[in-house]
Amino acid sequence: MDATRRALAVETNGFMPPDEGDALYAAAELAMAAVPEAPMLEVGSYCGRSTVWLGDAAASAGRLLFALDHHRGSEENQSGWEHHDPSVVDVASGRIDTLPHFRNTIEAAGLESTVVALVGPSAAIAATWQTPLSLLFIDGGHGAEPARADFAGWTPHVAIDGILAIHDVFPDPADGGRPPYEEIFVPALESGRFRLESATGSLRVLRRVD
Ligand code: MG
Repeated sequence: MDATRRALAVETNGFMPPDEGDALYAAAELAMAAVPEAPMLEVGSYCGRSTVWLGDAAASAGRLLFALDHHRGSEENQSGWEHHDPSVVDVASGRIDTLPHFRNTIEAAGLESTVVALVGPSAAIAATWQTPLSLLFIDGGHGAEPARADFAGWTPHVAIDGILAIHDVFPDPADGGRPPYEEIFVPALESGRFRLESATGSLRVLRRVD
């Protein structure tokens, strides 16, 4: 990976540990080698931290990365919750708005022609999506309902031999919230459509086999 971009990713506001970002980059390389031409898509871009790892891989392969987020923060980002950050609240509206932060990150990374922002509700975009994906990274809403909707709406779009990466998978409830594990990771394996490739921290990398 490009060292300047990696340093920028590590400095960017967000919740992706560097070793997991590097594992995500490796997963992107695997995915693009297995599935020619298809773009990648990330659900839950926040300020663009993980987007830079994926975007660097996309740029080096001449692919597009779609980066989807409503940019209003997930439940756990709202005021009073564990992952609230006052620096991403828009002063005028009093609401979270991570889009300006995201745009700054992508501009600073020199990835504006590689990363295409999709700003809106994940389920509505998934329902009209038609393009097979080489890699799908799910790091969106971490409640049961949004996690279930992302599983149902997005995983069918992963091409055969493509990669499904899931963040914040905690098999032990003592380590963190359960929905990414219970509503995405377990159903993906139980569907028979995905096989586990690797685990790094709370990142799980699965390959679509059927
Ligand atoms: Mg995450």
